[in-house]
Amino acid sequence: MENKQNLLSKEKTTKQNRVWVRITAACNNKCLFCLDSDAQNWVLVKEDIVIQEISKWFKAWFENRVIISWWEASINPKFSEYIKYARELWYDRVQTVTNWNMFHSFDFCKKVVDAGLQEITFSFHWHNSTLHDYLVATPWAFNRSIKWLLNIKKYFPEVIVNIDIVVNKVNVAYLPDIVKFFMKFWVYEYDILQIIPFWRWFKEYKRKLFYNISENIEYLQKTWELSQIPWMYMWTNRFPAEAFEWYEDLIQDPRKMKSEVMWEAYLMFEEFIKSNWKIKPNCYGDACSVCFQKDYCHSYIENINTKKLDNIDTNDTIIISWEEFPSQVYEKYWDKIEDFKNKLKSFNKKLINIPKCLWWTWIYQTYNDIKQQDSLADYTYKYINNLYRIKSLNCKKCKYDKECKWIHINFIRSYGFKILEIIK
Ligand code: SF4
Ligand code: SF4
Repeated sequence: MENKQNLLSKEKTTKQNRVWVRITAACNNKCLFCLDSDAQNWVLVKEDIVIQEISKWFKAWFENRVIISWWEASINPKFSEYIKYARELWYDRVQTVTNWNMFHSFDFCKKVVDAGLQEITFSFHWHNSTLHDYLVATPWAFNRSIKWLLNIKKYFPEVIVNIDIVVNKVNVAYLPDIVKFFMKFWVYEYDILQIIPFWRWFKEYKRKLFYNISENIEYLQKTWELSQIPWMYMWTNRFPAEAFEWYEDLIQDPRKMKSEVMWEAYLMFEEFIKSNWKIKPNCYGDACSVCFQKDYCHSYIENINTKKLDNIDTNDTIIISWEEFPSQVYEKYWDKIEDFKNKLKSFNKKLINIPKCLWWTWIYQTYNDIKQQDSLADYTYKYINNLYRIKSLNCKKCKYDKECKWIHINFIRSYGFKILEIIK
């Protein structure tokens, strides 16, 4: 794959110990798509809890990064003290994610930079005031923020500045222009986040904010193309993998699914699995059609209703399982598509978990074949390791599209969607 080096360098970053510490249950913007707006109660997290969180997750011998955030961390009066504490604890990198509102004073910026803040992620969702202010529902937000983006660059050039953008129906067609606009200010690191259908976003703004990936693929691909600029760093979050045809190095690490379901929503998903899907997550329903976790939740329902693969002669078959990192895929199957295909042929057995366009047997394991317990952890690990299979947008032209169970995401991350061959 052309972007192999990008993929391998990102792999190193995902091996960092990343610690997210929440210090404030409040925010001074009112973004239309706020994931957490229903949970904000204007309470500051207690100091002893914050200190405990910062120290508890630090791992000696790792590269440690703490992200002091959630919701708007900078409005907590002890923000700079927590930064200082993390630096004194030897965190390699102290970062925050912010809406900029507090950063519009030189004194504030100096205080937090002096305390040890090294990286700031600013949220911008448009490249002019009309629509940015509309999306964050805060007058003057854009003008204030852009002024301080320039000032941080001018007065604190040692601070790494990056930008996150929530992609939605209002801004998707302008996404490449938004990134190009901020490149003029020498911002070369972006976190591009797909809108997700939770809380009031979906209830109130379903028609206004949600968009169809295949109808907008042209704009997304023009944005991904910018990731090829040599000094550019682009991360993506919660997009369906098929949005990245030709740019597969941008597909999010599948292990991220673990933190999506096994942290705050743990009890809800645990109940879903333990009850054999009889008690569904409270977001289940209309929202599933635009949810990045659709395959995770719905595969469980489908798998639990599927019979086990019986009567498989293990002497005659081989299960093609994932490898944890693309570099491990390369180690096992080598790094060219032809090598991978030749390796599959060399097994000279019935292959399991490989689509029809790559091997004739076309047999897939289901969760019932591999499960050990009815627990969230068991399903999540097995989903990530085995059942997290994806297809190309072009698969809809294949005559096997409806029955196919595709291929594990790490093979697509390693070799690209072009390993799949449409069967007419
Ligand atoms: S797919 Fe799962 S997480 Fe997403 S809305 Fe449906 S039930 Fe909720
Ligand atoms: S092209 Fe797509 S739908 Fe057709 S067999 Fe391959 S993976 Fe399946």
